[in-house]
Amino acid sequence: MTGAAGVGVGIDIGGTKTVAALVAADGTVLRRRRAPTPAGAGPAAVLDTAAGLAAQLLDTAAGPIGVGTAGTVDPATGGIRYATESLPGWAGTPVAAELAERLGRPARVVNDVHAAALGESWVGAGRDRAHLLLVAVGTGLGGALVRHGRLDPGARGAAGAVAHLPAPGAGRLRCGCGRYGHLEAVASGTGLAAGYAHATGERVTGREVAARATAGDAAAREVLDRAGASLGAALAGLVCVLDPEVVLVAGGAAGALLPAATTAYAAELPSGWAGVPLLPAALGVDAVVVGAARLAITPEED
Ligand SMILES: [Zn+2]
Repeated sequence: MTGAAGVGVGIDIGGTKTVAALVAADGTVLRRRRAPTPAGAGPAAVLDTAAGLAAQLLDTAAGPIGVGTAGTVDPATGGIRYATESLPGWAGTPVAAELAERLGRPARVVNDVHAAALGESWVGAGRDRAHLLLVAVGTGLGGALVRHGRLDPGARGAAGAVAHLPAPGAGRLRCGCGRYGHLEAVASGTGLAAGYAHATGERVTGREVAARATAGDAAAREVLDRAGASLGAALAGLVCVLDPEVVLVAGGAAGALLPAATTAYAAELPSGWAGVPLLPAALGVDAVVVGAARLAITPEED
């Protein structure tokens, strides 16, 4: 087996599904394999599933595999430092070592939002940008930094965690981290649901809040506008700290939040950074596998 030059396999391990993809040197997804993540069966079953999917694609790929996974990944070891209950027992799992053993080749493992940022910087909305900030608004709120064209995971694999920035007006709302007043408590699927429940007494998903806002529900509209404004203002502040060339918003709630976020972002951004665009991410659900494959293809830096 020689393997085609520049073709890589990327794996996306999420709480509900696992996807492996064979990705060409130009970032095109050539083949995909997916399966439900057996989260309840424990880490070994999750790893077996990921390895099984990847093994179906490895015949044409040389070199290491890349992985984007839920959880905070230790940059030094490729093991999981922290994970939520979406993957029970995942914290402490040496993912890189376990997958390397199962597949007979090295594995490079990063957080899934980090992988998505790398994918976007490679062939997505951040293409040709050496410095970008990406935030992902899903159930929670994640973020990642690409600097000098490479993922910057930070000292403990947690760089870009915009979730825990203080958010004006969120003081009484509980964040996923257990503290109060953080951005994720407003600008996330969970935050939208909580805001709507507070306003109306009705508990629906964040996705449903977005759908109702589109359909003309005034309470839903107000919740979304407030969340978008918090997000946009926070991102403007971060631009001044990080000085990226572009800011990308990814995830299921991105489209619903972007209009209000863009307005607040433009209003808060000091003139020195006025040209830094706030854009929707472009790769959708493929971003993680594409970025993970990029990790596999890119020579490791010393
Ligand atoms: Zn928090």
